[in-house]
Amino acid sequence: MINITLPDGTIREAEAGTTPHDIALSISEGLARNVLCAKVNNEVWDSNRPIAESCDLKLLTWNDAEGKSTMWHSSAHLLAEALEALYPGVKLGIGPSIERGFYYDVDFGEISFSSDDLQKVEEKMKELARTKSQYIRKDISKNDAVAYFTEKQDEYKLELLEGLDDGTITFYTQGNFTDLCRGPHIPNTGTIKAVKLLKVAGAYWRGDVERKQLTRIYGISFPKNKELTEYLEMLEEAEKRDHRKLGKELELFTFSQKVGQGLPLWLPKGAALREKLESFLRKAQVKAGYQPVITPHIGNKELYVCSGHYDKYGEDSFQPINTPNEGEEFYLKPMNCPHHCEIYKAIPRSYKDLPIRFAEFGTVYRYEQSGELHGLTRVRGFTQDDAHIFCRPEQVKDEFKKVIDLVLYVFNALDFTDFTAQISLRHQTVRDKYIGSDENWDKAEKAIIEASAEKGLDTVVEYNEAAFYGPKLDFMVKDAIGRTWQLGTIQVDYNLPERFELEYAGSDNQAHRPVMIHRAPFGSLERFVAVLIEHCAGKFPLWLTPDQFTILPISERFNEQAQNLLISLNNYDIRGFVDDRNEKIGKKIRDAELKKVPYMLILGEKEVESNTVSVRKQGEGDIGSFTEKSFIELINNQIEATLAQ
Ligand SMILES: [Zn+2]
Ligand SMILES: [Zn+2]
Repeated sequence: MINITLPDGTIREAEAGTTPHDIALSISEGLARNVLCAKVNNEVWDSNRPIAESCDLKLLTWNDAEGKSTMWHSSAHLLAEALEALYPGVKLGIGPSIERGFYYDVDFGEISFSSDDLQKVEEKMKELARTKSQYIRKDISKNDAVAYFTEKQDEYKLELLEGLDDGTITFYTQGNFTDLCRGPHIPNTGTIKAVKLLKVAGAYWRGDVERKQLTRIYGISFPKNKELTEYLEMLEEAEKRDHRKLGKELELFTFSQKVGQGLPLWLPKGAALREKLESFLRKAQVKAGYQPVITPHIGNKELYVCSGHYDKYGEDSFQPINTPNEGEEFYLKPMNCPHHCEIYKAIPRSYKDLPIRFAEFGTVYRYEQSGELHGLTRVRGFTQDDAHIFCRPEQVKDEFKKVIDLVLYVFNALDFTDFTAQISLRHQTVRDKYIGSDENWDKAEKAIIEASAEKGLDTVVEYNEAAFYGPKLDFMVKDAIGRTWQLGTIQVDYNLPERFELEYAGSDNQAHRPVMIHRAPFGSLERFVAVLIEHCAGKFPLWLTPDQFTILPISERFNEQAQNLLISLNNYDIRGFVDDRNEKIGKKIRDAELKKVPYMLILGEKEVESNTVSVRKQGEGDIGSFTEKSFIELINNQIEATLAQ
């Protein structure tokens, strides 16, 4: 008999050779129906794969990320099966699951294939899904695997096999289709109740522009039709909210081929918005004990060799900047951390000085492949709301709690109300890859777990997800249309203090090594603004929006009064503009609505006489007449209610 430990700690005795599905069945039939795969000692397995030894077991369903990815990857196999049935002789590259859905890279040879053909393939997939074919795993020798794909004349699989060692190779078969695959898979194709093939794109084999371009077919699948319908509606909504489209309409940012790909240019309105975000955070940070620092955009090669970033970013990054001095090499800054370490080192530090918190809106540069660039979410130059906290090991927990407070304050002010926190820890048993003492790791992991619990965060713990240099906490935020974004990271680091030989004098007068914490509530301002635009569909919170009001004079006669009112409101730090175009008031209102300006102040005969303005609220219409003073109050009260800490 073996012992199976479930996540709640209960232990089930079972025969060796029992499967995760058997265990699910012993709990309930409903659960067994929903189990897609399982985590056995933290490795994701087929739910029908026999368990030989005592282990930890977590049953995974559609509600788990690994459940979804297993279903999607299995759907890629189903896609391949459908393609082989419809287009005999096609050759197959790889077919992984992705963040949302899956793809398969296909070499159609002489056959022409376009998005017009997707529906036919989709129908075939549904037909094959209904046969409820099991995904059957089989260990296979390298020789037999090579023989199989040689016979099939699939050079791509043969190339993949070259990189694999005998004894580690598995095949998966469902219906008439066999694939070289490590797995895991869902039990059978019947779970795939709804499937949609979304688009066709070109993709170089192994991402290498020198190699053949294959056809990449993207798709997504669900266990219920209703979920597919909802997903497609979400996609439609996402398209309307696309930050690249809204960024243009709202005149926030642009790109120029002349300046360079992936290098955003902020227009005045976008710069105003970003400025607001920065000053908002700067103020909150000063309150929380951070000290602003400023560092240059480039650094000597030696700096990045010391930090290890040279090894990480060196060859695939922007190439060095050379000077007339032979042998002198500078790099564009890929990270702010090394510079901050040097600031820490500038002065001898004592235990009494800690924690020290250096904050900087630091612009960094990373070379992303041009195919990877996407609006503001993937760029080549971006500004992090970066800070580094240097503290004593026993201060980690308190510092985490303070950073959590700051992150929650930021989320609240920007109306991100739905989020979970992911705690990434070491592998539970294999620990040789981590730097830093076990004692410190234990302390830091415990500190993160306790800090999150004390702050009432809804958390998930992931083992084996920590970086080699320390555990971390990531905030996974759901936006208004249900997509999850990773925003805000707090990361413990034992590596850089070691590499930079950072020290402080302890109360024992000995030199000690501080712990470093990296944190960024926004992450990068560019990506954050992109997410924010899509979250609020361009309707920014009042405190942040570039134009809080527009003054709409009914005719030219009132333009002067409008300008005076503008100056007066500007003096109260309320931002807006006068629409003095020679247009009908109805048109001015429509345009302001389109530009999502929160308040429209209408100025005509009646208003000028009574020394008031008629106020319209965006999306709501007329809210009555206000004096200048009462309008200022309205705005300030609304902002204070959002920003109250
Ligand atoms: Zn597979
Ligand atoms: Zn850092």
